[in-house]
Amino acid sequence: MKPPTFEYHAPRSVEEALALLAEHGLDAKLLAGGQSLVPAMNFRLARPAVLVDLNRIEELAFIRPVEEGPAAGGVRIGAMTRQRAVERSALVTERAPLIAETMPHVAHPQIRNRGTFGGSAAHADPAAEIPAVLLAAGARCRVRGPDGDRWIPADEFFLGLFATALQPEDLLLEVELPGQGPGTGCAFREIARRHGDYAMAGVAATITLDDVGTIERAHLVYLSVGGAPVAAPGAAGSLRGEKPTPDVIAAAARRAAHEEIEPMEDMHASAAYRTRLVEILTRDALHAAAERARGDRVANGGHRRREGDE
Ligand SMILES: Cc1cc2nc3c(=O)[nH]c(=O)nc-3n(C[C@H](O)[C@H](O)[C@H](O)COP(=O)(O)OP(=O)(O)OC[C@H]3O[C@@H](n4cnc5c(N)ncnc54)[C@H](O)[C@@H]3O)c2cc1C
Repeated sequence: MKPPTFEYHAPRSVEEALALLAEHGLDAKLLAGGQSLVPAMNFRLARPAVLVDLNRIEELAFIRPVEEGPAAGGVRIGAMTRQRAVERSALVTERAPLIAETMPHVAHPQIRNRGTFGGSAAHADPAAEIPAVLLAAGARCRVRGPDGDRWIPADEFFLGLFATALQPEDLLLEVELPGQGPGTGCAFREIARRHGDYAMAGVAATITLDDVGTIERAHLVYLSVGGAPVAAPGAAGSLRGEKPTPDVIAAAARRAAHEEIEPMEDMHASAAYRTRLVEILTRDALHAAAERARGDRVANGGHRRREGDE
């Protein structure tokens, strides 16, 4: 099918794009990589009268280090940065390893060549990887609207099914991922029927160990189990103060699967199957995250052993 007719604009600056949004209001839609919006238009699920194409706005495509402030050691990724560029960035691999590990799971290389980092965040598909990892990594989003810029933390940005804190006249400019503190490890796991398909369930896990190998904090965020990325603060919190032993990790995974995450049933998987996936993926992700956190501690100043430690 072909989309309904629309008026097309290709601004060359953010200010020009914002002026078009202000002029056309709810009739207008921003076009990024078009990998979600164009299929939706072809199926007539979206019928914007005006398309504002962001592809000529060069200032929105970048990956930069953050050297100062609370996010020092992290990276900023411009909204129009292609997913493939993020996947291949040495800076992202070094400073935001959770993102680097996740990117190959987003669709197929052909789609990542067009699809943008910001487009995926703005689209807020509950089955998408990028929103879940942004939440797990403690990212924040810089948005520009009629009243200027504002930063929105990821846990206030993703509001529900294809719903974000973006207002109709807002444009997502960039995403900031904070540097990982010392002793932090992360891991991403998902199960899809075929590589590149949307996952039936997935999890992003982070663990921070103190200098004697005790878990200081952990985060668990899931995709494809609800209407938005879903965190499991209870299971993650139960790890605090513990050593990341197989029993401790297994108990946290059980808690996430059976007490916190309530997956829905759809044509891809039953709720019971998803619950099983949540438990297995959580266990696997936590083991990997803990192993990497130990490695990071050793690499960054050593890991003291106390009497009685395993
Ligand atoms: C066959 C196929 C398989 C896929 N599989 C996966 C998958 O496994 N995992 C996954 O996560 N995704 C998957 N996708 C989606 C893909 O990752 C998209 O690229 C992504 O969801 C949207 O990014 P985009 O740049 O294409 O945005 P677009 O489709 O251009 O836009 C999406 C929405 O975001 C809005 N928007 C875009 N940029 C901005 C901005 N800067 N500010 C405000 N609003 C903005 C648009 O107005 C639109 O509403 C798949 C797509 C296809 C076609």
